[in-house]
Amino acid sequence: MSLTTVGVVGAGTMGNGIAQVCASAGLTVKLLDVSREMLDKALASIEKNLGRRALEPAHKLAVLARIELSTDYGCLQDAGMVIEAATEQLALKQEVLQRVAQYVSPQCVIATNTSSLSITQLAAKLPLPERFIGVHFFNPVPVMQLIEVVRGLRTNDQAYAQVVALAERLNKVTITSTNRPGFVVNRILVPMINEAVLVYQEGIASAEDIDSAMVLGCNQPLGPLALADLIGLDTVLAILKSLYDGFNDSKYRPAPLLKELVAAGDLGRKTGRGFHAYD
Ligand code: NAD
Repeated sequence: MSLTTVGVVGAGTMGNGIAQVCASAGLTVKLLDVSREMLDKALASIEKNLGRRALEPAHKLAVLARIELSTDYGCLQDAGMVIEAATEQLALKQEVLQRVAQYVSPQCVIATNTSSLSITQLAAKLPLPERFIGVHFFNPVPVMQLIEVVRGLRTNDQAYAQVVALAERLNKVTITSTNRPGFVVNRILVPMINEAVLVYQEGIASAEDIDSAMVLGCNQPLGPLALADLIGLDTVLAILKSLYDGFNDSKYRPAPLLKELVAAGDLGRKTGRGFHAYD
Protein backbone atom coordinates (compact mmCIF):
# COMPACT_ATOMS: atom_id res chain seq x y z
CA MET A 1 0.00 0.00 0.00
CA SER A 2 1.47 3.34 -0.95
CA LEU A 3 2.21 5.88 1.73
CA THR A 4 -0.25 8.79 2.02
CA THR A 5 0.09 10.00 5.60
CA VAL A 6 3.20 10.59 7.67
CA GLY A 7 3.28 11.50 11.35
CA VAL A 8 6.09 13.74 12.58
CA VAL A 9 6.56 13.89 16.35
CA GLY A 10 8.47 16.94 17.58
CA ALA A 11 8.06 20.24 15.73
CA GLY A 12 11.47 21.80 16.44
CA THR A 13 14.35 22.51 14.06
CA MET A 14 14.22 19.07 12.41
CA GLY A 15 10.54 18.21 12.80
CA ASN A 16 9.35 21.29 10.96
CA GLY A 17 11.82 20.66 8.13
CA ILE A 18 10.72 17.03 7.83
CA ALA A 19 7.06 18.11 7.84
CA GLN A 20 7.80 20.65 5.10
CA VAL A 21 9.54 18.21 2.73
CA CYS A 22 6.91 15.52 3.26
CA ALA A 23 4.01 17.94 2.61
CA SER A 24 5.87 19.33 -0.42
CA ALA A 25 6.06 15.76 -1.78
CA GLY A 26 2.26 15.47 -1.58
CA LEU A 27 1.97 13.58 1.71
CA THR A 28 -0.51 14.44 4.42
CA VAL A 29 1.48 15.31 7.54
CA LYS A 30 0.34 15.04 11.13
CA LEU A 31 2.77 17.24 13.06
CA LEU A 32 2.64 16.55 16.79
CA ASP A 33 4.34 18.32 19.68
CA VAL A 34 3.74 18.73 23.41
CA SER A 35 4.03 22.46 22.94
CA ARG A 36 1.35 24.46 21.08
CA GLU A 37 3.87 27.29 20.86
CA MET A 38 6.39 25.05 19.04
CA LEU A 39 3.66 23.92 16.62
CA ASP A 40 2.73 27.52 15.80
CA LYS A 41 6.40 28.43 15.40
CA ALA A 42 6.93 25.41 13.16
CA LEU A 43 4.09 26.38 10.83
CA ALA A 44 5.34 29.99 10.68
CA SER A 45 8.82 28.74 9.87
CA ILE A 46 7.53 26.41 7.12
CA GLU A 47 5.51 29.27 5.66
CA LYS A 48 8.59 31.51 5.67
CA ASN A 49 10.73 28.80 4.04
CA LEU A 50 8.16 28.14 1.33
CA GLY A 51 7.98 31.91 0.76
CA ARG A 52 11.67 31.91 -0.15
CA ARG A 53 11.04 29.47 -2.98
CA ALA A 54 9.55 30.40 -6.32
CA LEU A 55 6.23 28.66 -5.75
CA GLU A 56 2.80 29.56 -7.05
CA PRO A 57 0.74 30.95 -4.11
CA ALA A 58 -1.84 28.18 -4.68
CA HIS A 59 0.86 25.51 -4.51
CA LYS A 60 2.24 26.99 -1.31
CA LEU A 61 -1.24 27.03 0.22
CA ALA A 62 -1.78 23.41 -0.83
CA VAL A 63 1.48 22.37 0.90
CA LEU A 64 0.48 24.20 4.08
CA ALA A 65 -3.03 22.69 3.95
CA ARG A 66 -1.51 19.19 4.01
CA ILE A 67 0.07 19.86 7.44
CA GLU A 68 -2.18 19.24 10.43
CA LEU A 69 -0.93 20.40 13.83
CA SER A 70 -1.81 18.46 16.96
CA THR A 71 -0.88 17.84 20.57
CA ASP A 72 -2.90 14.60 20.60
CA TYR A 73 -1.27 11.26 19.72
CA GLY A 74 -4.64 10.06 18.40
CA CYS A 75 -3.90 12.06 15.22
CA LEU A 76 -1.31 9.41 14.26
CA GLN A 77 -3.75 6.54 13.83
CA ASP A 78 -3.91 6.77 9.99
CA ALA A 79 -0.17 7.23 9.51
CA GLY A 80 1.72 4.70 7.38
CA MET A 81 4.94 5.96 8.87
CA VAL A 82 5.79 8.07 11.93
CA ILE A 83 9.07 9.94 12.14
CA GLU A 84 10.03 10.89 15.68
CA ALA A 85 12.08 14.11 15.93
CA ALA A 86 11.65 14.99 19.60
CA THR A 87 14.34 16.22 21.99
CA GLU A 88 17.49 14.09 22.04
CA GLN A 89 17.03 12.34 25.41
CA LEU A 90 16.82 8.57 25.74
CA ALA A 91 14.03 8.36 28.37
CA LEU A 92 11.97 11.03 26.62
CA LYS A 93 12.27 9.30 23.24
CA GLN A 94 11.46 5.88 24.75
CA GLU A 95 8.28 7.31 26.24
CA VAL A 96 7.32 9.14 23.03
CA LEU A 97 7.91 6.02 20.91
CA GLN A 98 5.90 3.80 23.23
CA ARG A 99 3.01 6.25 23.02
CA VAL A 100 3.29 6.34 19.22
CA ALA A 101 3.21 2.51 19.13
CA GLN A 102 -0.05 2.50 21.14
CA TYR A 103 -1.84 4.55 18.48
CA VAL A 104 -0.52 3.35 15.11
CA SER A 105 -1.42 0.21 13.13
CA PRO A 106 0.93 -2.83 13.26
CA GLN A 107 1.91 -2.08 9.62
CA CYS A 108 3.11 1.42 10.44
CA VAL A 109 6.87 1.97 10.27
CA ILE A 110 8.13 3.91 13.27
CA ALA A 111 11.33 5.82 12.50
CA THR A 112 13.54 8.04 14.60
CA ASN A 113 15.63 10.99 13.52
CA THR A 114 18.00 10.53 16.47
CA SER A 115 21.56 11.74 15.91
CA SER A 116 23.17 9.75 18.66
CA LEU A 117 20.97 7.18 20.36
CA SER A 118 21.07 3.48 19.59
CA ILE A 119 18.33 2.30 17.21
CA THR A 120 18.54 -1.20 18.71
CA GLN A 121 18.12 0.17 22.25
CA LEU A 122 15.16 2.39 21.28
CA ALA A 123 13.57 -0.56 19.46
CA ALA A 124 13.91 -2.88 22.43
CA LYS A 125 11.01 -1.30 24.35
CA LEU A 126 8.61 -1.37 21.37
CA PRO A 127 6.03 -4.08 20.68
CA LEU A 128 7.28 -4.50 17.05
CA PRO A 129 11.03 -3.74 17.02
CA GLU A 130 11.30 -5.07 13.46
CA ARG A 131 9.18 -2.13 12.23
CA PHE A 132 11.54 0.39 13.85
CA ILE A 133 14.38 2.11 11.99
CA GLY A 134 16.66 5.18 12.04
CA VAL A 135 16.06 7.84 9.41
CA HIS A 136 18.63 10.53 9.96
CA PHE A 137 17.88 13.77 8.11
CA PHE A 138 20.35 16.66 8.02
CA ASN A 139 19.86 20.30 8.90
CA PRO A 140 18.36 22.28 7.19
CA VAL A 141 16.14 19.45 5.99
CA PRO A 142 14.73 21.14 2.85
CA VAL A 143 18.28 21.89 1.65
CA MET A 144 20.39 18.89 2.66
CA GLN A 145 20.27 15.96 0.26
CA LEU A 146 21.35 13.11 2.51
CA ILE A 147 19.40 10.73 4.69
CA GLU A 148 21.31 8.10 6.67
CA VAL A 149 19.14 5.01 7.01
CA VAL A 150 20.14 3.10 10.12
CA ARG A 151 19.11 -0.49 10.67
CA GLY A 152 18.80 -1.71 14.23
CA LEU A 153 19.61 -5.31 15.05
CA ARG A 154 16.02 -6.39 14.40
CA THR A 155 14.88 -3.94 11.69
CA ASN A 156 13.24 -5.91 8.88
CA ASP A 157 13.65 -5.51 5.11
CA GLN A 158 10.13 -4.11 4.59
CA ALA A 159 10.71 -1.23 7.02
CA TYR A 160 14.05 -0.55 5.33
CA ALA A 161 12.47 -0.59 1.85
CA GLN A 162 9.65 1.74 2.94
CA VAL A 163 12.07 4.30 4.32
CA VAL A 164 14.22 4.18 1.18
CA ALA A 165 11.06 4.64 -0.94
CA LEU A 166 10.08 7.67 1.15
CA ALA A 167 13.56 9.17 0.70
CA GLU A 168 13.27 8.75 -3.08
CA ARG A 169 9.89 10.44 -3.02
CA LEU A 170 11.47 13.36 -1.11
CA ASN A 171 14.28 13.55 -3.72
CA LYS A 172 16.87 12.68 -1.09
CA VAL A 173 19.87 10.38 -1.40
CA THR A 174 20.28 7.60 1.16
CA ILE A 175 23.30 5.87 2.58
CA THR A 176 22.87 2.84 4.82
CA SER A 177 24.61 2.51 8.16
CA THR A 178 24.88 -0.20 10.76
CA ASN A 179 23.74 0.89 14.21
CA ARG A 180 26.94 2.25 15.74
CA PRO A 181 27.42 5.49 17.73
CA GLY A 182 27.40 8.52 15.40
CA PHE A 183 26.46 6.33 12.41
CA VAL A 184 28.68 7.59 9.54
CA VAL A 185 28.45 11.37 9.25
CA ASN A 186 28.52 12.35 12.92
CA ARG A 187 31.25 9.82 13.71
CA ILE A 188 33.48 11.81 11.38
CA LEU A 189 32.04 15.33 11.71
CA VAL A 190 31.47 15.80 15.43
CA PRO A 191 35.03 14.97 16.61
CA MET A 192 36.18 17.62 14.10
CA ILE A 193 33.79 20.17 15.63
CA ASN A 194 35.00 19.20 19.12
CA GLU A 195 38.61 19.77 18.03
CA ALA A 196 37.62 23.23 16.73
CA VAL A 197 36.12 24.01 20.18
CA LEU A 198 39.37 22.89 21.83
CA VAL A 199 41.39 25.12 19.47
CA TYR A 200 39.10 28.04 20.40
CA GLN A 201 39.19 27.22 24.12
CA GLU A 202 43.00 27.14 24.08
CA GLY A 203 43.01 30.68 22.63
CA ILE A 204 44.84 29.56 19.50
CA ALA A 205 42.53 31.60 17.22
CA SER A 206 39.26 33.54 17.34
CA ALA A 207 35.98 31.80 16.48
CA GLU A 208 35.79 33.86 13.26
CA ASP A 209 39.32 32.82 12.24
CA ILE A 210 38.75 29.14 13.04
CA ASP A 211 35.66 29.18 10.84
CA SER A 212 37.43 31.13 8.07
CA ALA A 213 40.33 28.68 8.23
CA MET A 214 38.10 25.70 7.51
CA VAL A 215 35.96 27.51 4.93
CA LEU A 216 38.88 28.94 2.94
CA GLY A 217 41.49 26.28 3.67
CA CYS A 218 39.33 23.16 3.37
CA ASN A 219 36.48 24.36 1.16
CA GLN A 220 33.92 23.64 3.88
CA PRO A 221 30.71 25.60 3.19
CA LEU A 222 30.41 26.59 6.86
CA GLY A 223 33.10 26.72 9.55
CA PRO A 224 32.90 24.10 12.34
CA LEU A 225 31.88 26.53 15.10
CA ALA A 226 29.18 28.14 12.94
CA LEU A 227 28.03 24.63 12.04
CA ALA A 228 27.87 23.69 15.73
CA ASP A 229 25.68 26.77 16.32
CA LEU A 230 23.42 25.65 13.47
CA ILE A 231 23.12 22.07 14.73
CA GLY A 232 22.57 23.22 18.35
CA LEU A 233 25.31 22.90 20.98
CA ASP A 234 23.15 20.62 23.14
CA THR A 235 22.79 18.23 20.21
CA VAL A 236 26.53 18.35 19.48
CA LEU A 237 27.25 17.58 23.15
CA ALA A 238 24.74 14.70 23.17
CA ILE A 239 26.41 13.15 20.11
CA LEU A 240 29.88 13.45 21.67
CA LYS A 241 28.66 11.84 24.88
CA SER A 242 27.23 8.95 22.91
CA LEU A 243 30.50 8.48 21.01
CA TYR A 244 32.47 8.69 24.27
CA ASP A 245 30.22 6.21 26.09
CA GLY A 246 29.59 4.00 23.07
CA PHE A 247 33.23 3.39 22.22
CA ASN A 248 34.73 3.92 25.73
CA ASP A 249 37.38 6.00 24.04
CA SER A 250 38.79 9.23 25.52
CA LYS A 251 39.39 10.67 22.08
CA TYR A 252 35.68 11.60 22.05
CA ARG A 253 35.73 13.52 25.39
CA PRO A 254 33.67 16.72 25.00
CA ALA A 255 35.57 20.02 25.20
CA PRO A 256 34.89 21.65 28.59
CA LEU A 257 33.88 24.92 26.90
CA LEU A 258 31.15 23.11 24.96
CA LYS A 259 29.75 21.78 28.25
CA GLU A 260 29.93 25.29 29.77
CA LEU A 261 28.01 26.87 26.90
CA VAL A 262 25.31 24.20 27.09
CA ALA A 263 25.09 24.66 30.87
CA ALA A 264 24.64 28.41 30.32
CA GLY A 265 21.83 27.79 27.84
CA ASP A 266 23.82 29.27 24.94
CA LEU A 267 22.82 26.60 22.44
CA GLY A 268 23.62 28.38 19.17
CA ARG A 269 21.21 29.85 16.64
CA LYS A 270 18.09 28.55 18.37
CA THR A 271 18.83 30.62 21.50
CA GLY A 272 20.52 33.53 19.67
CA ARG A 273 24.00 32.82 21.03
CA GLY A 274 26.63 30.10 20.86
CA PHE A 275 30.12 30.55 19.46
CA HIS A 276 28.69 33.47 17.50
CA ALA A 277 25.80 35.86 18.23
CA TYR A 278 22.59 35.87 16.14
CA ASP A 279 19.72 38.33 15.79
P1 NAD B 1 14.59 20.85 18.96
O1 NAD B 1 14.97 21.10 20.36
O2 NAD B 1 14.64 21.98 17.97
O3 NAD B 1 13.08 20.26 18.90
C1 NAD B 1 12.62 19.22 19.70
C2 NAD B 1 11.10 19.28 19.76
O4 NAD B 1 10.61 18.13 20.47
C3 NAD B 1 10.56 20.52 20.49
O5 NAD B 1 9.61 21.18 19.67
C4 NAD B 1 9.88 19.92 21.74
O6 NAD B 1 8.74 20.68 22.16
C5 NAD B 1 9.49 18.54 21.20
N1 NAD B 1 9.19 17.59 22.26
C6 NAD B 1 9.81 17.43 23.46
N2 NAD B 1 9.21 16.45 24.16
C7 NAD B 1 8.19 15.97 23.38
C8 NAD B 1 7.22 14.96 23.55
N3 NAD B 1 7.16 14.25 24.68
N4 NAD B 1 6.33 14.74 22.55
C9 NAD B 1 6.37 15.47 21.41
N5 NAD B 1 7.29 16.46 21.19
C10 NAD B 1 8.18 16.69 22.17
O7 NAD B 1 15.47 19.61 18.48
P2 NAD B 1 15.95 19.24 16.98
O8 NAD B 1 17.25 19.90 16.72
O9 NAD B 1 14.81 19.42 16.04
O10 NAD B 1 16.27 17.69 17.18
C11 NAD B 1 15.24 16.72 17.13
C12 NAD B 1 15.88 15.38 16.83
O11 NAD B 1 16.58 15.43 15.57
C13 NAD B 1 16.92 14.94 17.86
O12 NAD B 1 16.83 13.56 18.00
C14 NAD B 1 18.25 15.34 17.22
O13 NAD B 1 19.31 14.55 17.65
C15 NAD B 1 17.94 15.05 15.77
N6 NAD B 1 18.75 15.76 14.78
C16 NAD B 1 19.06 17.08 14.96
C17 NAD B 1 19.81 17.74 13.98
C18 NAD B 1 20.14 19.19 14.11
O14 NAD B 1 21.00 19.69 13.35
N7 NAD B 1 19.51 19.93 15.00
C19 NAD B 1 20.24 17.04 12.83
C20 NAD B 1 19.87 15.69 12.68
C21 NAD B 1 19.13 15.06 13.66
